[in-house]
Amino acid sequence: MKAVEVPSPGGAFEVVERERPEPEGDQVLIEVDACGVCHGDAAVKEGDFPGIDYPRIPGHEVAGHIDAVGSNVTEWEVDDRVCVGWHGGHCFVCDSCRRGDFTNCSSSEITGLTTNGGYAEYMVAPREAVARIPDELDAVSAGPLVCAGLTAYNSIRNMDVSPGDTVAVQGIGGVGHMGIQFGSEMGFETVGLSRGTEKRELAFDLGADHFIDTEETDPVDRLRELGGADLVLATAPSTAAIESIIGGLAENGDLLVVAAPHEPLEAPVSQLINARQSIHGWYSGHSRDAEDTLEFSSLQGVEPLIETYPLERAPDAYDAMMANDTRFRAVLEP
Ligand SMILES: [Zn+2]
Ligand SMILES: [Zn+2]
Repeated sequence: MKAVEVPSPGGAFEVVERERPEPEGDQVLIEVDACGVCHGDAAVKEGDFPGIDYPRIPGHEVAGHIDAVGSNVTEWEVDDRVCVGWHGGHCFVCDSCRRGDFTNCSSSEITGLTTNGGYAEYMVAPREAVARIPDELDAVSAGPLVCAGLTAYNSIRNMDVSPGDTVAVQGIGGVGHMGIQFGSEMGFETVGLSRGTEKRELAFDLGADHFIDTEETDPVDRLRELGGADLVLATAPSTAAIESIIGGLAENGDLLVVAAPHEPLEAPVSQLINARQSIHGWYSGHSRDAEDTLEFSSLQGVEPLIETYPLERAPDAYDAMMANDTRFRAVLEP
């Protein structure tokens, strides 16, 4: 099979021929139809994640169809259309798994980091890491939905907000452009925030009810005019941007951070105490969360905006993603 590998930490991508993997007893073999290119892939490319073995095939926004199943697998069949996201399997026996908290498994696998991922024509995945794709969804849309989409959908739905509440999405990029769509389709009064007016029309097209140009308008003043944000989904990894919006939270509002800035965050703790506000972190989800995301997206017509590349052009797709030149998700098609 053809694959794109990172040979060593910091090394350049290489297009290689590799033996097609065989599924072991609890694995499925997936023929990859699409794989999103994500900032998470930089962990493999730059080698800044501990414990990765090289060479490694990246890619954790995988959509394809099952080509073969291991001898123990009964729930998946050849030709089933499936996705695999960041969560690449769990142990079932650690304390977190025994509590059903699979994303916090102490020995979970990460697709494309601890195992080979979707920058390839084929990959294997454990049976529990696989999510079914609804018939109506294309593979190129499904791939990014199980990472950028899953992060936005699964984080928002686990917060204490109800339809009609105000949800502000800070940053309109890979995750943010999904967050606006999900916020709108979940029935929230949805606010898009971005620097400049470049993404204003797009925000409204995606379903935003309001747009705040944070260069022109103080987001705190504007959010207070709107009654305050019951939830702020912070998707841009900028300490300054996140700190600048905390004052716009409503009473009992939550700041939900899904992208990590390099610097620590400073927060007005008295305000948090007096208004009973919280700062939450959230990441990703397990395969059933991913399947929920795909089902909701299919039902409500939520789709990522994508640019497609052939597999061999993975280096170009990666460079464009890292330079923020992608509107908004680069997707490889093996
Ligand atoms: Zn991703
Ligand atoms: Zn576990």
